[in-house]
Amino acid sequence: LWQNVPLAPADSIFKLTTAYKEDTFEKKVNLGVGAYRDDDNKPWILPVVKEATRILLSDETLDHEYLPITGLPEFTAGAAKLILGLNSPALAENRVASVQTISGTGANHLGALFLTKFYQWGTNEKKVYLSNPTWANHHAIFKNVGIEPVEYPYYDPKTIGLDFSGFIGALNAAPERSVFLLHGCAHNPTGVDPTPEQWAAIADVMVAKKHYAFLDCAYQGFASGDLDKDAWAVRFFVEKGVAMLVCQSFAKNAGLYGERVGALHIVSPDKETSIKVKSQLSVLSRSEISNPPTHGARIVSMILNNPSMFEAWKRDIQTMAGRIIDMRKEVFRLLTEELHTPGNWDHIVNQIGMFSFTGITPAQSQALTNEAHIYLTTNGRISMAGLNSKNVAYFCKSLDAVVRN
Ligand code: PMP
Repeated sequence: LWQNVPLAPADSIFKLTTAYKEDTFEKKVNLGVGAYRDDDNKPWILPVVKEATRILLSDETLDHEYLPITGLPEFTAGAAKLILGLNSPALAENRVASVQTISGTGANHLGALFLTKFYQWGTNEKKVYLSNPTWANHHAIFKNVGIEPVEYPYYDPKTIGLDFSGFIGALNAAPERSVFLLHGCAHNPTGVDPTPEQWAAIADVMVAKKHYAFLDCAYQGFASGDLDKDAWAVRFFVEKGVAMLVCQSFAKNAGLYGERVGALHIVSPDKETSIKVKSQLSVLSRSEISNPPTHGARIVSMILNNPSMFEAWKRDIQTMAGRIIDMRKEVFRLLTEELHTPGNWDHIVNQIGMFSFTGITPAQSQALTNEAHIYLTTNGRISMAGLNSKNVAYFCKSLDAVVRN
């Protein structure tokens, strides 16, 4: 039995981490990792998360019972307000079904599964439009539930920016009621987001063509340092009446990668519909995970529902986002002012979030790894979190060398 199972390739990102760990070169740099690192290249436990954990561990009234199937109610309610906004019309009208999920990945999965069961497809049955490129796992998640990914133009290598006309063209060309996956902020892997004016144009077409917005928001707060600013597009879509759901993750903005804290929020036209939607999400979650995990949800719930902890969290988020923004500025300064590296590097400071598409070729990426021990995906994506005050000059010098070669 199983002899006919083909050997699967190793996950490309985790493969990079393994290669980096095995490398004994002193100045090696890991720019593949999608997790925040501090200026000493160490994982950072947010001070507010430390505080919440301390309180939880000393609370002897807490037990290890199951959570409700749809999650810790104080967590899902707080999470919905965080992404949709305190004054969200959809929340005021009780037409959002929120369910705790296994982080953002679980939210994507549950949302995709729900679509397979209940979405009223147009002629584009069981297809999802994904940006080209997108987080590689999007392809796998949709395929796993029998939804076929098709791509829409997003990144333009010529401008190292958004292919806005290609994007709008695809929205217009898609049959009515098509499903479009959109990154709510800090697009992974490109770091290229639409401007507010571009979002407005996108929303107009979505409404006109009755498309469904499958919004994935894994980096709220992490992009600009401001939780509200990073949720702008999501809230704007609600206001405009775009049919939509949102996938939410607390992996990055709370540094809770391994705790798997997330939520899926499905916005419905009215309260009665929303009650039915939530009942079906509960049925699906029951068969998938039965009950979501407790610890991380308790941490996030405490932070979201305690005003002084919430303020402390915002400061921690600014620490992370601020360091990343500073690294962008430093890379830009070194390349343009000190090294006079050929080419235009404006995109380094214009892109947003954890990742940056450098615009270098696969051969140049490979050369960075082979010659300088700098690990990055071959599409030229770098994690800004892997840069710090000690290695940024080495990285820029190495990048300069491969670009000139
Ligand atoms: N969506 C996108 C676009 C992501 O980049 C990520 C994290 N890499 C996720 C979802 C989900 O991550 P997690 O399951 O750790 O919350």
